[in-house]
Amino acid sequence: MKQHRKTRGIQDAVSRIYARYLYLLGFRTSVVTDATGLSESQARNLKKELKDEGIEVKDQPGPGSMADGLVNSRSGYIQASILMNIYRSLNTDAERNLDLESVIEAYSIYLKEIGAIFRGCDDQEIYSDGFERFTIQQAYSLAAALRSNDIDYSASMRECHECKTYFYFTVRQTVVDDCPFCNWRVRGLSSGNAKMTEASPE
Ligand SMILES: [Zn+2]
Repeated sequence: MKQHRKTRGIQDAVSRIYARYLYLLGFRTSVVTDATGLSESQARNLKKELKDEGIEVKDQPGPGSMADGLVNSRSGYIQASILMNIYRSLNTDAERNLDLESVIEAYSIYLKEIGAIFRGCDDQEIYSDGFERFTIQQAYSLAAALRSNDIDYSASMRECHECKTYFYFTVRQTVVDDCPFCNWRVRGLSSGNAKMTEASPE
């Protein structure tokens, strides 16, 4: 019995440490409670402790990080496709399971690579978006939508018939529905002119 209590004490401590780590990375409380099993009030107390210690914890904006909202710009669309390709290479079961560690790793690779990918790109439309990078919470939202049981705003990886690359596509997105990689390549190579590719007959 005593041993059991001791083990629980250690588990609680580990949960608290993991929760702090997730907050520091930038996740919202709902992600923290899901991942650690802590109650919402326990998690919020931890967040407050961090703030009291002078550690900056960004308050994540409300429900604005729905996946379909994130891909409704050309830069968001292509970034989501790059990020979720990385994520899916780390979590091959991404359509059924959300793996938080894979989200964290994919996000870190994405942050390192995204600047290099678009360096020298003269596509004004992508830059005029301010080319804002996703937050880790937004990366999580993309991954959550990819998991098929999140049917409210579910998303899938679609294969482009032209370039054979997979791209991220949400069921309810409204702005763009062609392959973001083909679109970007054509525009990038044509010095910003919106040259359209002929649609190839299926
Ligand atoms: Zn393509």
